[in-house]
Amino acid sequence: MGETTNDSDRRIGRRALLIGGAAAAVGTAVLARDELGRLWWRTPGVEKPRKEGEVDFGGARWVAASSANWRRADRPDDFGIDRVIIHVTQGSFKSAVKVFQDPGHGAAAHYIVGKDGRITQMIRELDVAFHAGNREFNERSVGIEHEGFVDRPEDFTDAMYEASARLTARICARYDISVDREHIIGHVEVPGTDHTDPGPHWDWDRYIPLVREAAKRDAERTAGPTASPTAGSTSGATKATKASGAGRTGGATRTTARGA
Ligand SMILES: [Zn+2]
Repeated sequence: MGETTNDSDRRIGRRALLIGGAAAAVGTAVLARDELGRLWWRTPGVEKPRKEGEVDFGGARWVAASSANWRRADRPDDFGIDRVIIHVTQGSFKSAVKVFQDPGHGAAAHYIVGKDGRITQMIRELDVAFHAGNREFNERSVGIEHEGFVDRPEDFTDAMYEASARLTARICARYDISVDREHIIGHVEVPGTDHTDPGPHWDWDRYIPLVREAAKRDAERTAGPTASPTAGSTSGATKATKASGAGRTGGATRTTARGA
């Protein structure tokens, strides 16, 4: 737990504990920080800054995978990202974390989502994770593992679907990936793979709409309400952002407006 020196992540981690992985709202302040921290993202030709323990998704906890299981890159500049690939671990959350830390394993995904909705990031989205068993698809994708077994539908909990959908929504927004089954695919759909995950019990008809809903909520928070703020509510908003306050959606959003 919190060995990270990244203060925004630390705050988010506390929030994640408080509200649990399945909570609907991540909170405006958290989203704002997530977005503001990414303003450099679309600036080509600049190696992106890296900080030990930093995560790409505000709700994730960082545990580094073995460097043998990924390749350093500078995505999306050197390789464009246009796919999210959904996996199922065929094991527990803990065992997945462990094998991704094992240099002999030869594979790892960017994220692992637990049955309880917790999310651990093990490889930066900047880098190419070895998760798809196909070099081209590794280079163009972000890989998300889900705790459980393909033949146990009960492993795919509400909390897992919700958390994963929020994560995928952010990834899609970051790289302008369409939220559809062409761009959000299962490992089984990667050309040349002999893997079957996420398997027949992964409910795509449920998952894709959940991603769309999460994306819509994010977009609404980022855009903010149409009414113009009064002086009073602006200072209130700043306070809410600093305190990573939960409520106050209205004010806090306006301070962030994401410049786009
Ligand atoms: Zn897989």
